[in-house]
Amino acid sequence: MARYLTLFGAALLAALTSVEGVAGQGGGGRGGAVPVAPGGECPPGTTLVRVGQCQAPGFPPPSIVDYRPQSLLKVEEHPVPRAKFPVVDIHSHTGPTPQNIDQLIKEMDALNIRVLNNLSGGFGPELKQRVDYIRSTKYANRFTLFANGLNRFRDVEPGYGKQAAAQLEQDVKNGAIGFKIFKETGMDTLKKDGTRLTINDPELAPIWETAGRLNIPVIVHTAEPQAFFDPLDMHNERWLELALFPDRRQYLNKNVSFNLLMSERDDLFKKHPKTRFISAHFGWHGHDLGRAGRLLDEHPNVTLELAAILYDLGRQPRTAHDFFVKYQDRILFGKDTYAPSEFPYYWRVLETRDEYFDYYRDYHAYWQLYGMQLPDAVLRKVYQDNALRITPGLPR
Ligand SMILES: [Zn+2]
Repeated sequence: MARYLTLFGAALLAALTSVEGVAGQGGGGRGGAVPVAPGGECPPGTTLVRVGQCQAPGFPPPSIVDYRPQSLLKVEEHPVPRAKFPVVDIHSHTGPTPQNIDQLIKEMDALNIRVLNNLSGGFGPELKQRVDYIRSTKYANRFTLFANGLNRFRDVEPGYGKQAAAQLEQDVKNGAIGFKIFKETGMDTLKKDGTRLTINDPELAPIWETAGRLNIPVIVHTAEPQAFFDPLDMHNERWLELALFPDRRQYLNKNVSFNLLMSERDDLFKKHPKTRFISAHFGWHGHDLGRAGRLLDEHPNVTLELAAILYDLGRQPRTAHDFFVKYQDRILFGKDTYAPSEFPYYWRVLETRDEYFDYYRDYHAYWQLYGMQLPDAVLRKVYQDNALRITPGLPR
């Protein structure tokens, strides 16, 4: 018997607990138990029911799309419709038009958003037109914009950098208060010679030097969430998102890896220490705050901006809290997509100690969020003060 147990212990244990499971739940799981080595993975269609034991559900399981369990947890809830302190949204793509300006102001006032900074300012006459419109309204101190690269960095060839730097200087004269590098730049955009334009290409150096001299920040969006570069299999935590949106799957087949893009970006930060860079989306290190901290430690000219990574902060509220306290002078508020109904989730994660509440998009995060309960002094810096210091052109 002892030998039998040694050889078939796992299977026997599985059989015994399977019987117990059937008795306890009155039915399912008759498919039988499948043993699995410690630390091993259950075969497809089965799930771990006991240590060393996998089992298939007793009836066809719902798909990942349809499974929406309702939490029975009852805890205090403290929704935050309005931020506790005035906010600068440094990462927006929304700007005012005669059609939307009154509505925007109404929404921003309700949310306590003081300034909406449009990163899609364009360049040249298009940019000037946008600034001129803002200045013609009675809300000139509520909207700002960043300039973008000349010709969107297409067909870069020798001489481009100087020309683009001159364009930036003109755009700043016309009212731009910063510069935005979109994610295509450094990843997809090709130079005139057909090679990939890397973000640290020396040809672009005059732009960053000019930004430093003009005392404006450069916000850099490099790469995408790390999961977008990982295999699209049942281990990818963004599987649903990747399955929903073809444009987010494109990175899977690219020759550039996440870490190659990160190293090119960090090289840019290092080569231009006198230029202030804002690394958008927490540099895509929201899930690895140790790495985010090293980025800040190694590059004093860099700050982080937290747009579209709330799901990463909200799943590690204590680590994120400590990170925000430690780097309280290095983090800016940003949201990216302007959606009045979504901002309150940010306020709630940053301000409260609420537990286990929904995020606003199922496909980003199948997990729940927790509040970080940041101290007021830190909140003020993240919401507004850091943005004002990093971006001198913001209305005071
Ligand atoms: Zn954006």
